[in-house]
Amino acid sequence: MITAKNITKTFGDLKVLKGIDLEIPAGKLYSIVGPSGAGKTTLLQILGTLSKPDSGEVHIHDKSVFALGEKQLAAFRNKEIGFVFQFHYLLPEFNALENVCIPAFIAKKGKKETEARAKELLNFLGLSHRLTHKPAELSGGERQRVAVARALINNPAVIMADEPSGNLDTQNRNDLHDLFFKLRDEFKQTLVIVTHDENFARQSDRIIRMRDGRIED
Ligand code: ATP
Repeated sequence: MITAKNITKTFGDLKVLKGIDLEIPAGKLYSIVGPSGAGKTTLLQILGTLSKPDSGEVHIHDKSVFALGEKQLAAFRNKEIGFVFQFHYLLPEFNALENVCIPAFIAKKGKKETEARAKELLNFLGLSHRLTHKPAELSGGERQRVAVARALINNPAVIMADEPSGNLDTQNRNDLHDLFFKLRDEFKQTLVIVTHDENFARQSDRIIRMRDGRIED
């Protein structure tokens, strides 16, 4: 369960979040939609502990995340939350398998066990024949699936994605969306996904509609 209470955030003179209250139950897929500039990414970054609110609290699994020290918070985030962004942010000099392993190595997991899990994930995502390819040698859809595998390597309870299919063609977009539902249904993962895709949002457990820094009723 993720809970946000009275979250506010201001950049300079711009009040981007004006008091957000939100509960996301475990094992559900929630989508965040709204016009450009509504504050979707800012909210996702705060829910994902990447950015601190000016006021308010975020609890993940009953833990008040911003009360944690910086190091503890980084370790918590690396273990508990997997991120997928519009741009994959894979490291170009590493191949698919190596990219997927990185968060597990940061969490000080063993090489053998990590590589076995990374192969399992890449296999699950239909990429077993792409293990040694570098990002430049992969298609857009394949790169995004590698990024999803990387997000899953530490078996996080929560996946947060910011317009993950924004850069993909229809087929790859549909495949990625199917995968998100599979993660919810088969792995009981909690997913929070910022999207401009109304069709996908309609299939989610709840649509959070944002406008001008607030959640619309
Ligand atoms: P989009 O759909 O276009 O991605 P969004 O709803 O995700 O929009 P945000 O990215 O959360 O919107 O941005 C909300 C507002 O805050 C925008 O006006 C943006 O320019 C501003 N903003 C976001 N991050 C920063 C920052 N680090 N510094 C200054 N302003 C920022």
